[in-house]
Formats: sequence, C-alpha cells, structure tokens
Amino acid sequence: MKTEVKNVNDAQWRAIVNCDAAFDGQFFYGVTSTGVFCRPSCRSRTPRRENVRIFHSNREAQAAGFRPCKHCHPETLHFEATDTCTIGPGDASVGRDAPNGRSDVTPWSESRQ
Ligand SMILES: [Zn+2]
Repeated sequence: MKTEVKNVNDAQWRAIVNCDAAFDGQFFYGVTSTGVFCRPSCRSRTPRRENVRIFHSNREAQAAGFRPCKHCHPETLHFEATDTCTIGPGDASVGRDAPNGRSDVTPWSESRQ
C-alpha cells in the first residue's frame, strides 16, 4: 500500500479520472492549480491528484475560493451531502478501499429506510 495524498480517496479519484457521472451530486472537486471546481463527470483535463480538493457542496467550494467550471457548471447542481463523505459503492469497482477502513457502507440509493 502506497502512501497517497489524503485529500481525495481512491474512489473519488477514479470518478474524476473516469468522468463518472454516477458521482455527480456526491461530491465536487476543486483544482488548486486553476482555482476551478468541477463535477466528477467533467471532461476537462484530469488534474494532478495532489492538486485536487474534495467538496460536498458548491457553496463549500466557492467559500474556499474556487470558481465553478464553465464546462460542467457545478453551480447548477444543488445538493447537500449527508453526514459522511463516503461514496456508496455504485458498482463493485468502487468503495472497496473507502477511507476510515469502512468498506461495508450502504449504497446511497438504498440508504433511506
Ligand atoms: Zn468542469
């Protein structure tokens, strides 16, 4: 296991690299080198991982000084994250290496009772 930058977990990073729209609404990522934040699905150039910051609302990202991306318009996606930043395992390839050692998270789509 490599020591990686902690600000973005592997599931989030994969979503960014793969432009995975399934993660839209679960988090935004800001790129410190550009000062812009995006939806996970944004097709803009993949940033360097160490430059990525994860946000759970566009307010949070803007409060941190990031501007919404002109391509994916993250500011139009309104949601508030729930209490944790854990990404639900939408498919088998994500969620296995969740932070905090939690791998038994309930998928978001089934988290309501
Ligand atoms: Zn974008």
